[in-house]
Amino acid sequence: MTEATSPIPTRAASAGRLGWLEGKLSWIMLGLAGLLLPLLDDSYMGTIATRAYIYWVLSAGLNLVVGYAGQIAIGWVSMLTLGAYTTAALAAGRVGAEWNPYLALIAGGAMGAVFGVIVGLPALRLRTFYFAMTTLGFATIVTQVALAWKDVTGGGVGTPGPVFPWPFDPGWGFYYLCFILAALATWMTANIGSSRYGRALVAIRDAEVAAEACGISKPALLMMVFLLAGAMGGIAGGLFASLQSYITPDAFTFEMSVLFFIGILIGGRGSILGPALGTLILTVLPEFAAPLVQWSTFLYAALLLLIVLVIPGGIADLLDYKNRRPIEQHREIVPRPDLLARVLGRQDGRTLIALKAIALHFGGVKAIDGLDLEIRGGEVHGLIGPNGSGKTTTLNVVSGYYKPHAGALTIDGANLAFEQPHLRALHRIARTFQTPRVVGAASVLENVMIGGTVHGHGTFTESMLSLPRHRLDEKALEEAAMLALSTVGLESLAAVRADRLQHSELRFVEIARALMLRPACLMLDEPAAGLSAEEIRRLGGLIKAISRVGTAVLLVEHHADLIFDICDRVTVLNLGKVLAAGTPEEIRSHREVVSAYLGA
Ligand code: ADP
Ligand code: MG
Repeated sequence: MTEATSPIPTRAASAGRLGWLEGKLSWIMLGLAGLLLPLLDDSYMGTIATRAYIYWVLSAGLNLVVGYAGQIAIGWVSMLTLGAYTTAALAAGRVGAEWNPYLALIAGGAMGAVFGVIVGLPALRLRTFYFAMTTLGFATIVTQVALAWKDVTGGGVGTPGPVFPWPFDPGWGFYYLCFILAALATWMTANIGSSRYGRALVAIRDAEVAAEACGISKPALLMMVFLLAGAMGGIAGGLFASLQSYITPDAFTFEMSVLFFIGILIGGRGSILGPALGTLILTVLPEFAAPLVQWSTFLYAALLLLIVLVIPGGIADLLDYKNRRPIEQHREIVPRPDLLARVLGRQDGRTLIALKAIALHFGGVKAIDGLDLEIRGGEVHGLIGPNGSGKTTTLNVVSGYYKPHAGALTIDGANLAFEQPHLRALHRIARTFQTPRVVGAASVLENVMIGGTVHGHGTFTESMLSLPRHRLDEKALEEAAMLALSTVGLESLAAVRADRLQHSELRFVEIARALMLRPACLMLDEPAAGLSAEEIRRLGGLIKAISRVGTAVLLVEHHADLIFDICDRVTVLNLGKVLAAGTPEEIRSHREVVSAYLGA
């Protein structure tokens, strides 16, 4: 490992201590304002601030669902209702003995957690608006049950909210309870947001197929997030019941649900600070413009329209001044294949992926028609053929997206299941896409770190609480991602938002992300499309070097020069069938291939 000494820049080194302070400054200021507010001894302001904290406890959790995972959960007020009634009814002794209000609050959180998962389940099957409708429907049901179940909820007459005893008794004591819980909610969700789980959520939102190829399991992750958001909504509900001192079903309005949702949208997706400010603004605004209260729904809608039209990225985008700085115009991608041994680690180079008599048709179209193919460690295997000959479909079968109608697929003799794309990462099968699939709103470094998601050891809870294993994971992932970026020659763009990159650079970002798996098999779908001649030459060197470390490379390409330069074996497809297979020399002189595909 002689390369071990070559310098790889790290993000930490470039950001420095001031950068850290800058990132935390807004929070420190918000925290100080909250801590010192009681000094003003203005109980009206205190109540407004308390309300904002309570809403934020709910919105912070909902932010992971809406802002990070991109799920349109518009009826989340139902969690507030559930938590409020659970806490109030238990504390008032409407169900058995009177509970200690703090225990009742925890029960409210548990109730929210259970129903968060139940309401979230349809998100695994339903798309956007249909899911939004189910959350709204559930909110209506909860209100109706609250009206009807008079013994427990007091029906239309209502029930008193809990009064929390020492040390958080009504007034400033209760204010501090809400402040502490809001701070805790911020800290926990910020930890999630900046962990591999948060990046995975954003990947599911913006590049679901790529997320699966990186081994991210959408159902498991979404359920964790719905559970957390439900629990936080339930806790917020218990606090809300205490703030209101008396709750009736009409305290939980549709407008409130809209407030939570819009607060997150105007704050900006995938940010914590933005939605926190958004929620604060929406809570405080109607209070200071009292005559406007009855117009609040209209105001929210107008504000949302304004934000969507003027700053689609929301408040977070306004604050993200770093990404408005110009980046160097004439950039060059200079890969460093010498780093590959460190990126890929030890490869035995004996991987063997075998496709046997694979057949797959879409309706009447035979996309693959009895295909045999072997991809070996240490070799570049070229897959060429005219458009529509089944190349991408072959990749999709190997990476587990499609289930063929016949045939088998093995890696080192073991059968691979189909239609389980997120399990391929465990076999270290990585890929890139014909159209690059990256998370435009995340930085280049974060995009590459997504590729190593499965290498983390810390659980969701460990990340939420920033425990040691989480911090080790993050450090290792960041180092590995910087190394992968240096290898493909993009380390200087690590901190830049991916949607500011050129098309050719995105292709190399995808390769860096795929390298994060330390792949035994790497599949590249037309990686040279859209690259300049010089870039193609460098890409070729990089691909060849990857195979020489021991990885099996399957290369789908149209650039004949690249194929014949770097491939050890070539398979030519036509109409889903093998037209020819052999060494580059054999293919180049194959009469049918030349006449049908390569041209004279
Ligand atoms: P290539 O990558 O070689 O250009 P593809 O593998 O993308 O070709 O496509 C092979 C054939 O299968 C084409 O006729 C294409 O239209 C068809 N096909 C691919 N994917 C689908 C799909 N999801 N649904 C229907 N037809 C498809
Ligand atoms: Mg294709």
